[in-house]
Amino acid sequence: MTKKMEKLLDSLIVPPGKKIDLRNDYDPGHTGHFMSKGEVKKTMAADIHLLSLQQDKLYAQDTYALLILFQAMDAAGKDSTIKHVMSGVNPQGVQVTSFKVPSVEELDHDYLWRNCVALPRRGDIGIFNRSYYEEVLVVRVHPEYLDRQHIPPDLKDQDLWNRRFDEINNFEKYLTDNGIIILKFFLYVSKEEQKKRFLERVEEPDKNWKFSAADIHERVHFEDYMDAYEELFNHTSTPYAPWYIIPADHKWFTRLTVVSAIHQTLDRLHLAYPEMTHEQEEALLKAKEDMVNEGRNPGKGRKPMKKESGKNS
Ligand code: AMP
Ligand code: MG
Repeated sequence: MTKKMEKLLDSLIVPPGKKIDLRNDYDPGHTGHFMSKGEVKKTMAADIHLLSLQQDKLYAQDTYALLILFQAMDAAGKDSTIKHVMSGVNPQGVQVTSFKVPSVEELDHDYLWRNCVALPRRGDIGIFNRSYYEEVLVVRVHPEYLDRQHIPPDLKDQDLWNRRFDEINNFEKYLTDNGIIILKFFLYVSKEEQKKRFLERVEEPDKNWKFSAADIHERVHFEDYMDAYEELFNHTSTPYAPWYIIPADHKWFTRLTVVSAIHQTLDRLHLAYPEMTHEQEEALLKAKEDMVNEGRNPGKGRKPMKKESGKNS
């Protein structure tokens, strides 16, 4: 990875412990030192290939797990980013979980429950398309949703949001302390670009299926969501699980930075294929010898057939 790219990725991280101003400090249209999609095509292809090699080692090593979490407003490109970035990896080692409006069963549990059961096992990459962060986003913008959560009345006070930030930080600390590496991406799309993409969904027949009247309705609360996002970044970007604010008005730039950040994170783990112990090496050599000699001495090693005795004699 070039120094320039490293610097660019660093600039997208929300500095832990510092207060940011989302609207002033970050720009959804930013493309770093790149000018166009064509310019990054080769780098992107190389990064996707590198990611597949890293995943192979992650899987073989069976020690770390990688949890990649995506949050964004509608039409910011979560689904297509996941599709592109993961296009080279072995499907056996990746699970994508999309968190929707919680079911009756899910609402009967604490809010982290459904996330816990979807965590990646060691060696795997788990992708959360939305996550427990909805609990301090959509639920904060629509506090009436709390009524469905069966929370004891005396715990439904103004301090609930701060407690949730603490709970989330503690949960993420617990995960990283157990070898589950966490990457959190917010795809930052502008309100104008969102409108353009919604209109495409209406006007282009092969995008009609993506259109949802509910999404248009939610757009009314765009600024409330930005406030809720800013607040959560200021509370939950930590040294062990930092937030990346990924500019999302240009999809090619979103994909490039996401794949590079994943690649950089895996690189820091110094992944390697497991080393064989002396006994394992011996067993391998023995297995090879057995296979090479297979069929050479047909009689050798076979038990002689027992003569049936007694019956017909
Ligand atoms: P989509 O990702 O477009 O399929 O939409 C999923 C919907 O589920 C979004 O409107 C989210 O806000 C909503 N959702 C996800 N998690 C929660 C949650 N914990 N509580 C309430 N709504 C949620
Ligand atoms: Mg949607």
